[in-house]
Amino acid sequence: MAFALSIVKLQEALEKPGCPACRLEYDAAVSSIDSFLWENTNDPAVRKPINDAYGFCQQHTRMFVAKEMSTSGPVLGVNIIYALLAKNVVRDLQGIHIRDSSGGWGSFLSRLGTTPAAGRHRRKLLVPAGRCPICVLAEESGADVLATLIEVLSAKEEPFLTAYRHSSGLCLQHLRSGLEQLGSRDAEVAKFLIDDAVARLTVQREGMLEYLRKHNWEYRDEKMTPEEQTAWLHTLTFFTGLPEAKFDYKLEEF
Ligand SMILES: [Zn+2]
Ligand SMILES: [Zn+2]
Repeated sequence: MAFALSIVKLQEALEKPGCPACRLEYDAAVSSIDSFLWENTNDPAVRKPINDAYGFCQQHTRMFVAKEMSTSGPVLGVNIIYALLAKNVVRDLQGIHIRDSSGGWGSFLSRLGTTPAAGRHRRKLLVPAGRCPICVLAEESGADVLATLIEVLSAKEEPFLTAYRHSSGLCLQHLRSGLEQLGSRDAEVAKFLIDDAVARLTVQREGMLEYLRKHNWEYRDEKMTPEEQTAWLHTLTFFTGLPEAKFDYKLEEF
């Protein structure tokens, strides 16, 4: 049943723009933040990986805040989590023993003319004991998606093969993981994925070269086709997993 559910989700993701595995990783991240906000903000066991990582990564912190702001009034979850993180960082900062370089071992060595390379003796400080737990969870979910995709492609059902060909396809990162997962298990599926990516990239490259050529003054009268206008966007989808429409981002103040 779980597998059937995964297939339905995968089929839905294939019909939408962007890498299907990236999309389902994103969805998994949003729903795990959602259930965390509703059920686990006070559960020490669930909070431990967040504390170990000194909070979420940049992307997932934004997601965490956005999710809470969109579903409730006050940002209680954010305050609960980050009040403890602030306390932890204060504790860890106060635990750093600062050595006085003016009279310490370093200055003794420099007086002897044998100052060690700075990098070699640099202490590692405030090292997180784990990675952003949402990143970890999203990656696990991406690996499950790839396993489902591989299994379905192995069955060689034509509607699914067609759905994959008509989708945005896997991004580079998920194609790499998928091929690694496959190993030598199913050479035909590996060949299908490689041939598909090669065909897409070849067409996209030709489109981009035409885009460049037609921007040349000499060829200005040649009309650009819609495929040539958008080839670069499809290529960015391959390299990032993001849907083409995401590349309308306007630079804003940091
Ligand atoms: Zn991807
Ligand atoms: Zn993260």
